Amino acid sequence: MARIVMKFGGTSVGDTNRIKNVARRVKAEAEAGNEVAVVVSAMSGTTNQLVAWTNEIARLHDAREYDVVVASGEQVTVGLLALALQDLGINARSWLGWQIPFRTDGIHGKARIGEIDTTIMRQRLAEGQIAVVAGFQGIGPDNRITTLGRGGSDTSAVALAAALDADRCDIYTDVDGVYTTDPRITAKARKIDRITYEEMLELASQGAKVLQTRSVAMAMQHGVRVQVLSSFEDKPGTLVVDEGEIVEQQVVTGIAYSPDEAKVTLVGVPDRPGVAGTIFGSLADSAVNVDMIVQNVSQDGKSTDLTFTVGATDLDRAHQVLDGLKGEIGYSDIVSDPGVCKISVVGVGMRSQPGVAKTMFQTLAEKGINIQVISTSEIKVSVLISSDYTELAVRALHTAYGLDADGDG
Ligand code: ADP
Ligand code: ASP
Ligand code: MG
Repeated sequence: MARIVMKFGGTSVGDTNRIKNVARRVKAEAEAGNEVAVVVSAMSGTTNQLVAWTNEIARLHDAREYDVVVASGEQVTVGLLALALQDLGINARSWLGWQIPFRTDGIHGKARIGEIDTTIMRQRLAEGQIAVVAGFQGIGPDNRITTLGRGGSDTSAVALAAALDADRCDIYTDVDGVYTTDPRITAKARKIDRITYEEMLELASQGAKVLQTRSVAMAMQHGVRVQVLSSFEDKPGTLVVDEGEIVEQQVVTGIAYSPDEAKVTLVGVPDRPGVAGTIFGSLADSAVNVDMIVQNVSQDGKSTDLTFTVGATDLDRAHQVLDGLKGEIGYSDIVSDPGVCKISVVGVGMRSQPGVAKTMFQTLAEKGINIQVISTSEIKVSVLISSDYTELAVRALHTAYGLDADGDG
């Protein structure tokens, strides 16, 4: 007997027939003799609608009320799935985040999970009851509802699996695994059988939304065995594993893209100590996440240009912060461009293999694509390009690194 956490995303619970399909899958796992906790997302489209409503009511809103609204989608699906299971003769009950509880910090809208008290749930599981748990939501130190950031049900599932010492955490979604790149971008994307935690973490943080970044970090930290698989087809998915479990190492394992970026250039920034600290310190204080940064050597020793990227949704706030610093710092202009996309190639094999960046730059040059900013880590090379070329770039790189599926794919 094993203890399993199964997580179903928005498309998998997108209507009542699909919820019945999920119930049948859950029933099969339970009837195989396992203890099962199921984590579900809201029906696909629901959370987007809820977010849109909060924005229509008030552009700058109270994040605590935002959480009350956007957490509601998952309340519907846990109830419906519990009903569907009961209809199949299975003992099941729903759990909202606060009922377990999933304790989080107080950063509404992107809260982090702290402690999960599983005492009662463990008893119920041992009695053969299936737990149907609302993903994406928790309860903050002020006893108010929190949410974990978009895609956060993956993190709910992994956190629950860690807290329950589960044998497996199966993430059921609308693709049958993790691919070499988003299968929506190229039909030549290939399913990966095993991927390391580190590579999955980089791919997720660079835009591959098949798993929320934090869920991968948490799985890595707690050694949770995660599998990504289809909720519609019965076939093996992708296992996220330790590096030692990978037999054949690729130099580049996958390619991610992130269209939600904006580029900001501060022109004529005085070249003196402390300026970068002031700029990036102020942006951080206003919760603006800065990603890539380039600063030129100043020619005259007096001033230079500073270019960096922020999340597209943070661009307005970044402008506000920088406008406020103009007097103190004395730069000459701000130029921003939301029409950019970050493309990243990821692979643990590049630690020992030179030439990965060269292939990337040459391939993009052959397609006439200009590189605006470059950044690297030990297992990743990222470039910022015009978003007009996103698909062209991903497809060309996919071919260049030998990732294309052969023949009929
Ligand atoms: P869910 O609602 O089940 O959480 P998501 O939409 O959050 O599903 O994530 C699944 C989607 O992630 C897929 O439909 C696919 O378009 C996208 N995706 C992006 N990159 C990848 C990748 N490398 N492998 C698989 N899917 C990817
Ligand atoms: N329903 C939430 C969202 O759409 C959480 C999730 O799907 O993981 O972001
Ligand atoms: Mg998701």
